Amino acid sequence: MENKMVQNEIKGKVWLVGAGPGDAGLFTLKGKKVLEQAEVVVYDKLVGQGILSMIPKQAELIFVGKVSGNHAVPQHEINKILLREALKGRKVVRLKGGDPFVFGRGGEELELLCKNNIPFEIVPGITSAVSVPAYNGIPVTHRDFVSSLHIITGHTKKKEEADIDYEALVKLGGTFVFLMGVSAMPAICRGLLEAGIEPDMPAAILERGTTAHQKRVVSDVTNLPKDAKKAGIKTPAIIVVGKVCALEKEFHWAEDRPLGGLKIAVTRPKDRNSSLADKLSMLGAEIVLMPTIQTKELENNKLLEEAINDIRRFDYAAFTSPAGVAAFFNKLREMKKDVRELGSIKFAAIGPATKAAIEKMGIIVDLMPSVYSGKALGELIASESVEWGNKIGREPQILIPRARIGTDEVISPLEQAAIKFTDIAVYDTLEAEYAAKDEEELSHYRLIDFASEDVDYVAFTSASTVRGFTALSGLSDFTGIKAVCIGEKTAEEAQKHGMQCFIAKEATIDSMIACFLEL
Ligand code: SAH
Repeated sequence: MENKMVQNEIKGKVWLVGAGPGDAGLFTLKGKKVLEQAEVVVYDKLVGQGILSMIPKQAELIFVGKVSGNHAVPQHEINKILLREALKGRKVVRLKGGDPFVFGRGGEELELLCKNNIPFEIVPGITSAVSVPAYNGIPVTHRDFVSSLHIITGHTKKKEEADIDYEALVKLGGTFVFLMGVSAMPAICRGLLEAGIEPDMPAAILERGTTAHQKRVVSDVTNLPKDAKKAGIKTPAIIVVGKVCALEKEFHWAEDRPLGGLKIAVTRPKDRNSSLADKLSMLGAEIVLMPTIQTKELENNKLLEEAINDIRRFDYAAFTSPAGVAAFFNKLREMKKDVRELGSIKFAAIGPATKAAIEKMGIIVDLMPSVYSGKALGELIASESVEWGNKIGREPQILIPRARIGTDEVISPLEQAAIKFTDIAVYDTLEAEYAAKDEEELSHYRLIDFASEDVDYVAFTSASTVRGFTALSGLSDFTGIKAVCIGEKTAEEAQKHGMQCFIAKEATIDSMIACFLEL
């Protein structure tokens, strides 16, 4: 009852959400739902990039992690930020790596909220303590070897030795997982050995687990510090000690997936889902989604209205993008008309994605070129319409609703054949930099610091995504970028910036995937 009253007074609320160990697929369904309704997101370093790209654009972002050189925001400050934002009546999501209560200071963050009667919810996350070993082929328990699992912090305050009762641990046996233990690793191994653990007890250190560039060193307690140093293991990493570590030899799997080990940035239009990203991630790649362009339908589009009012005079409607299809049908609806207006107009699509967008409207596409390019579409319509014109005994009428700044690819074959057409701009493609209205919105694009990212490839599905990327990536030199491009036009744009290009054989998403598989 008391809690209810409080909820009525202050509408703000805090959700403490675990983001899991890095792989965006390991974020919980509930976490995603909660994140989608957030008005403020307070996050830190360990939250996976794939999850950051799920943050809705209306949310304000507050970063409280460590940026190179600077210290992280101190815990008591974070607590205050949560309180302050909740008191403003906002929906606050505190996004944390792994699980919020497993060495995540989740408890500390709740204290101030409780004191001030701020309502909250906890959304547990998948902890790195269990999932990172799993992605490295190490089951943390196994009936043949261990009967307990211990999760221990290796964190030391002010360079003191971690306060761990090694004798008790060794006596208990089981699997030991140490978090925050990279710098204390030699001390941890020494402590266990001095307490009498078998010197050849298998032990492993697992860096950046569940991400494309996860790295592991499997050794034994005696040699782990030396071997890890040789391999250059860095934080974040967990240390696993126990017989189960030896199972990795047989059970490793993550790197063995067709695209395992690859981190791919997928550029895409803002607010549109990416089937490319889904497919690549099913094949084992780590995906960073990067919105680089935004399409905006033209307002008060009188030309389009005129065309729609007289739509039956057209024999063909040709579309070069799903955005064009959306703009056309949105206008139709806005004018209180529906597909029945369209009579027997033939529909032409540049490729499968545009075709699918038209067919979603309940219209079967009549024409699609076998090569998915503007030129091929123009040529196909040119030849078909000449034939059609002869049949009906008059000049055929062609409507082309497309981007304001499009290439001449599609129209030049028509011009060459002296075929008349009505070319109507229905949307603008805005490279994100210009589309974003203020710093607030821009910060959503800059969640990915490309300069310090270890992205292996960038996928481009149009020349405008290349332009958007070059404007937003924060890079000045693109010669190190390996670009996988959907077609020639896209590759031309990427080459202009000195990128190294790989081009899909056909201009389709599936063909791009095939291209990745052959890399
Ligand atoms: N709440 C988090 C742990 C926070 S403490 C959880 O449940 O996972 C931070 C430590 O977690 C790091 O020092 C490291 O030991 C471990 N860690 C988190 N993510 C990791 C990852 N992807 N790979 C390896 N270790 C990770």
